[in-house]
Amino acid sequence: MDIRGRRKSSNVEDRRGMRPVRTGVGLSLGGVLFLVVLSLFGINPLPFLGVATKAPEVQMQESAEPYQETAQEAQLRELTAVVLADTEETWGAILPQYGVQYVEPKLVLFSGFVQSACGTAESAMGPFYCPLDQKVYIDMSFYEDLAQRFGAPGDFAQAYVIAHEVGHHVQNLVGTAEKVRGLQERMSPADANALSVRMELQADCFAGVWANHAARSRQLLEAGDIEEGLNAASAIGDDRIQKQTQGRVVPDAFTHGSSEQRARWFRKGLEAGTPDVCDTFSAKQL
Ligand SMILES: [Zn+2]
Repeated sequence: MDIRGRRKSSNVEDRRGMRPVRTGVGLSLGGVLFLVVLSLFGINPLPFLGVATKAPEVQMQESAEPYQETAQEAQLRELTAVVLADTEETWGAILPQYGVQYVEPKLVLFSGFVQSACGTAESAMGPFYCPLDQKVYIDMSFYEDLAQRFGAPGDFAQAYVIAHEVGHHVQNLVGTAEKVRGLQERMSPADANALSVRMELQADCFAGVWANHAARSRQLLEAGDIEEGLNAASAIGDDRIQKQTQGRVVPDAFTHGSSEQRARWFRKGLEAGTPDVCDTFSAKQL
């Protein structure tokens, strides 16, 4: 991606200097079922569902010294702000065509732990979107995981992560997230998982819609970027992650979709450039 001279979003909230202080017992992110199911990215959330609705509550405190970032982290922060700005352009233009005003989400950078309106999260859970405060949370160390553990390096792979989480924000704005949540409460775990997959694949498709606009309207993409994005989408497919973590694939426990599905829906959005093609909920075949 060529981000030189691009607008940077003013919606980035840098909380990397904050340190956790334990204050007692409260709700952890792992206990908030709907959030885990809908918003966790790149990690099979099932192991978290059984754990702790009671976890130590963590209060974040501003540390006296500002966060010292490396040159690489500064670059990542810039990339993040440029990509977020570009998603603002894209969805700010698209959603009004559907009668929905685009409310720009905040993006919180954190390191280690973070407190969201949905509970306390740690970086190991991966980037997520909290519908209650309409914020995307990212510990930039995930980008390193993405490159090393998941074999998806590159700036566009990182951009795809942001665009996917912003996709969840769009789902929240148009009311899909709430509808799905309501249905899931009355479903068997397997059916609820199947619905989560549709939700996640739609966020992938929305990420593709963004990539289309970034490329077409603003020439943000360079050669090789699309491949990086497709590679990232398939690298974090449930089947690949399950194989890595449990040594076998359990389709019933899929909540994000297989590698092939994720890459395919991303490409669908990318080629069409409109969310009209992203109706994963009525698609007979995912
Ligand atoms: Zn997601």
